[in-house]
Amino acid sequence: MTLRIGVIGTGAIGRDHICRITQRLKGAQVVAVNDVNAGQARAVVDDYGLQATVHSKGTDVIDDRNVDAIIVTSWGPTHEEFVLAAIATGKPVFCEKPLAVTAEGCRRIVEAEMATGRKLVQVGFMRRFDQAYRQLKQVLGADTIGAPLILNCAHRNPEAPGFSGDMALTDSCVHEFDVLRWLLDGDDYVSAQVIQPRKTRLCDDNLQDPHVILLRTRQGVHIAIESFVNCQYGYDIQCQVVGETGTASLPEPASVPVRHDAKLSSDILVNWKDRFIDAFDVEFQEWIDATARGEMHGPSAWDGYVVAVTSDACVKAKHSEQIETIDLPERPAFYGT
Ligand code: NAP
Repeated sequence: MTLRIGVIGTGAIGRDHICRITQRLKGAQVVAVNDVNAGQARAVVDDYGLQATVHSKGTDVIDDRNVDAIIVTSWGPTHEEFVLAAIATGKPVFCEKPLAVTAEGCRRIVEAEMATGRKLVQVGFMRRFDQAYRQLKQVLGADTIGAPLILNCAHRNPEAPGFSGDMALTDSCVHEFDVLRWLLDGDDYVSAQVIQPRKTRLCDDNLQDPHVILLRTRQGVHIAIESFVNCQYGYDIQCQVVGETGTASLPEPASVPVRHDAKLSSDILVNWKDRFIDAFDVEFQEWIDATARGEMHGPSAWDGYVVAVTSDACVKAKHSEQIETIDLPERPAFYGT
């Protein structure tokens, strides 16, 4: 069976996903698209030679009888409306982060999904599909280093044009919040503190950069995330887990070590797309395969909600300069253990 997909939002990441589905992945076809910029949607159809209808409204993609499943890659504030509409029609929906721009919005999606009695929603937290993170999780699962006690992590971008306010916390750190909780088998966060170190001179005046985010989990694991979105030198994601009997670190992306002129060097990536391109491919292939079987296994609406509550707490902690409690309700049985 070929899964017939409708895509709402044909901007940067929507176009990338259409490209991967059309040119690299198996088992799916993009049959309908929409963007507020209709010309852009038409250009994507032409560029990839799609046999696809260009709809004038996102909800028309969802209602299209030829569409089996939806991908939402439009502007964040539109996600909730489209995900709720997809749920209302009973169609599976993959939504890029954020699931909704508020925790309350995510909660509405959780309630609507649970009311259908079927898992329909997957959120675009692609790090769970990255080979390096999966290897690290396997080591933790094998109990090689004992129970995790401390996580030391870094999320560094060379630069972040367009970032302002709290976007480092709400836009990029959300990937850390999801993948670290997943690494720790769903050990929820209970508190957040955000430290604002000396600010780099190499970023906009209205941006604090870097941040250090300190999270504590129910099991008492201490997590330190350095978020530095104007680090200049490259795109660098680090994660070291300190366990009872050893440490385990996220493997570095493969690069040829060069010994030359009295120096040992290797390349560092500069673009997040290059770092996670394989993860995006795996994420979508697994989603296509599971959706075709009528299943849903990836990051859930509940995970999207947890991340929204966590990023809200971090923003509050940044401005209060206090340790803020993260108050999460018990995970509904619907979302498993
Ligand atoms: P983008 O280039 O601005 O694309 C978003 C597109 O949605 C634009 O073409 C925009 O049109 C369109 N749009 C806005 N409102 C719409 C509506 N009501 N109906 C249909 N289309 C609408 O942004 P992007 O970088 O692709 O990001 C899209 C989403 O993906 C964001 O939520 C972002 O956070 C997420 N994302 C996730 C990752 C990841 O690592 N997983 C990476 C990148 C982006 P106009 O430009 O004309 O407004």
